[in-house]
Amino acid sequence: MSAAFHGSKYCWMDGEVVETERALVSAMEPIYLGIFEGIKAYTQGNIGDEGKLSVFSWDHHMDRLWRSAAIDGLKMPYSRDELLDGLKAAVRANGFKSNIYIQPRIWPKADDPEEVHVVIPVWKFSTFLPASNPEFSKQRRFMISSWRRISSDAMPPQAKSWANYANSHLAEREAKRCGYDSAIFLDNRGFVSEGTGACLMGVRDGRLITPPVTASILESVTRNFLLEFIPKELGIPADVRDITRAELYACDEVFLCGTGWEVTPITSVDDIAVGKEYPGPATKKVADYYSEVLAGIVEKYGGRLTTI
Ligand code: PMP
Repeated sequence: MSAAFHGSKYCWMDGEVVETERALVSAMEPIYLGIFEGIKAYTQGNIGDEGKLSVFSWDHHMDRLWRSAAIDGLKMPYSRDELLDGLKAAVRANGFKSNIYIQPRIWPKADDPEEVHVVIPVWKFSTFLPASNPEFSKQRRFMISSWRRISSDAMPPQAKSWANYANSHLAEREAKRCGYDSAIFLDNRGFVSEGTGACLMGVRDGRLITPPVTASILESVTRNFLLEFIPKELGIPADVRDITRAELYACDEVFLCGTGWEVTPITSVDDIAVGKEYPGPATKKVADYYSEVLAGIVEKYGGRLTTI
């Protein structure tokens, strides 16, 4: 067995740094109740290089982690500051000095499901940003999934629980089987919802459009931040409203946003090319501004960054 997980030898678990292969829980644990977060820390200055790392939107991710725990009835045994110290210790132990992904995992215990293990794995990732990065402009063919997004009245997508990702997995498998790169969900009413691991935004007639929280989406930290800066800093008005499938086909630009997917343009939906220019000009502007914030270049949003 490999001693590393995504190339990361150490993680933090239940109060101490441990070797990743020793971060074990019992097979008897009620895994359907597990929750997690997906967070990124970027090198400051030039986001590809080695250097000082800052976490983006730590507080917002912690807010959501605690909300997920409340929805599933789990007790968080550590404070946010203790988790931040745990994260720092894990990063130090691995010696990471460039972009890292952080995925706090909360596992309920078999003997008392309100009690949990807390594990913080960290590993390196390569960013698609900024828009000049060749990865950013890769062709991405998406399909509308035949699977509907889980809905708030049955399985709340607002909690970031592992179980929700079985739904994403089905859509991903279908997309790959059909020769697409990934999928977009409709919600249980038939309106556009989100991607399998990111929120969705469109640009139509110079306005940004994105589905509301009531369209069975995860309350995305990135989406909220984009909705904050796009109108203010880029002068593009933003509407949060229901979007139909046909309207998505008619968009000038479509892109995904999320911690993992960052800002990622989509080339076509159901083999219908999106707009006339790929990647679209608004998508590139959003990606570049967002990457400057992540790299600590935009002073105004420096408060969103936590040095680790
Ligand atoms: N929707 C889903 C299903 C996701 O998994 C994610 C990634 N966490 C997002 C949206 C985007 O959320 P965030 O911007 O908070 O990463």
